[in-house]
Amino acid sequence: MADHLYPVPASWAAKSRMNAAERAADHALSLAAPGRYWLDRAARLDWFRFPTRADESSFDEADFQVKWFADGALNVSVNCIDRHLAGHGDDVAILWEPDDPAEAPRRFTYAQLHAEVCRLANVLKAQGVRKGHRVTIYLPMIPEAAFALLACARIGAIHSVVFGGFSPDALAGRIQDCDSSVVVTADHGRRGGKLVPLKANVDEALRQCTSVEAVVVVRATGGAVEMVPGRDVWLDEAVRHVAADCPAEPMNAEDPLFILYTSGSTGKPKGVVHTSGGYLLWASLTHELCFDYRRGEVFWCSADIGWVTGHSYIVYGPLANGATTLIYEGVPNWPDASRMWEVVDRHGVHTLFTAPTALRALMREGDDYVTGTSRKSLRLLGTVGEPINPEAWRWYHEVVGEGRCPIVDTWWQTETGAAMIAPLPGATALKPGSATLPMPGVAPELVDAEGRPVEGAGEGNLCITRSWPGQMRTVWNDHARFFQTYFSTYKGKYFTGDGCRRDEDGYYWITGRVDDVINVSGHRMGTAEVESALVLHAKVAEAAVVGFPHDIKGQGIYAYVTLNAGEEASEDLRKELRDWVRTEIGPIATPDAIQFAPGLPKTRSGKIMRRILRKIAEGDVSPLGDTSTLADPAVVEHLVDNRIIAE
Ligand code: ATP
Ligand code: MG
Repeated sequence: MADHLYPVPASWAAKSRMNAAERAADHALSLAAPGRYWLDRAARLDWFRFPTRADESSFDEADFQVKWFADGALNVSVNCIDRHLAGHGDDVAILWEPDDPAEAPRRFTYAQLHAEVCRLANVLKAQGVRKGHRVTIYLPMIPEAAFALLACARIGAIHSVVFGGFSPDALAGRIQDCDSSVVVTADHGRRGGKLVPLKANVDEALRQCTSVEAVVVVRATGGAVEMVPGRDVWLDEAVRHVAADCPAEPMNAEDPLFILYTSGSTGKPKGVVHTSGGYLLWASLTHELCFDYRRGEVFWCSADIGWVTGHSYIVYGPLANGATTLIYEGVPNWPDASRMWEVVDRHGVHTLFTAPTALRALMREGDDYVTGTSRKSLRLLGTVGEPINPEAWRWYHEVVGEGRCPIVDTWWQTETGAAMIAPLPGATALKPGSATLPMPGVAPELVDAEGRPVEGAGEGNLCITRSWPGQMRTVWNDHARFFQTYFSTYKGKYFTGDGCRRDEDGYYWITGRVDDVINVSGHRMGTAEVESALVLHAKVAEAAVVGFPHDIKGQGIYAYVTLNAGEEASEDLRKELRDWVRTEIGPIATPDAIQFAPGLPKTRSGKIMRRILRKIAEGDVSPLGDTSTLADPAVVEHLVDNRIIAE
């Protein structure tokens, strides 16, 4: 059933940039002649000095480095703004939809974006920010967030965006790790009708941070905040004293553009460093190919700017391509579960790019919230962040997209900069739950536990055997950790940490993180598969599956299940679900324990924290490890109190 093929719709095939055979040929060329291929692709950007060298990376310990286009010079903000001004200055660059639907949206043309970014860049300069300095950005989803990223890029400062939902402690840790001299924040943020005290959080964080000399504050809500004289400045006041033009700093392709701390679902966050040339090329190329982007279309990526998805597909990819990008301040389910579809209708969104966690939450509320809206403008849907359960895929496809919009399931990581394995909507037939095929230049390899490559159809640990332009360059201040984390497990390869299956058609299926692959009586099983079977049941909204030590089987299966709105937990249902999984997958996959849970522990980017679920299932609940990135710690207490003792 999951392997059911959705062919490329005729309307997409007719206008696509490449068909399936051309995609395969393009991919083969990118691997066979990478130097020429990538220098050709580099021409999609505007350079001060065009590079003569492409990939100079090595994954071997002796001469380890990740390096691309090293003799090129460019400026990222020029590529995202200035180069569009001559022909497209009046095109809309940013559409902004406020949290509260009763308020008016805002829009900024490329010409206006230029002025906003230049002024903010000049304000940063006035606060002493220079090329190479770090600026921490702690903002809600307002247009100023995009301005701030681009303003840093303009003057060569390195931005570190910290998601507005993080606590003062988490913020402080991230400021200290990269020694930021300036923080850009807002008085308050708004999400789902609630205020988030961003400035107060910054004040608290800065009691632990000595590196910060200035705080630039956006007046977003007009709410009262304390301003520290000599340190804090209001952006709206500071811009009055600066020019509306700011020269763009020429940057080497390998100069850092930003640091972004990983979401922390598997451990202590790492400061992932991306550079100017390769990253921008990768974000812009994948945005064009995966979403078949054409000028004039409205592109909506619903991620937060605090995650890599927001960096690459709200700001850098779309703006480098002259797109109209939508920034939405709020959450998917406020004022109600129709909100996303109303935003689609209000702005005539062509492409929506969102996460499985949001889809599962909305699916749970029933179809009426969707079908009461038009959605006629939609032509393409995308997903990222976790394996998408085929059930959620089909709901997205049939209910949201009315069967006419292809679904682009993009597999990638903070570390990879942008999409790595993904369908091209005009070229790739789809299978629900598979991210399909590698992007140009991407060389995936599945290896067994000993590091031996798995040929043809099979399953293993997902590695990438050669560098690609958008690869992270280092862990900030810890190059040894970079090598250790990603290149020491399998010699000469980048190890993603994900398990993966390749089918007879060469399609890739992410089975979950390798840590989450369970071994039941010698059968290896991806947690994603069992979860998808559970979610397929009409009463189940969400499921998380982990392994626990089992005397006889080696590992047993422990499932946490959240039911749809209005469904009751019961012993009968527990039995029904066990039988259900047995029928769907087979007896080997029958859960040993099913715990009904009103909520699952998630990171602030909405990913299930399986590390914690594993500990609870193992009965090892005293040291749960770093829980600072949890969105709602109360969820964990409930789980611990209601733990099942599995036989
Ligand atoms: P951390 O690295 O801090 O533990 P994280 O891995 O959740 O956190 P991200 O870089 O945001 O941080 O997420 C990348 C991971 O998300 C991938 O390694 C993969 O496990 C999962 N993922 C992302 N997109 C997909 C997808 N389309 N299908 C399956 N899994 C995906
Ligand atoms: Mg990760």
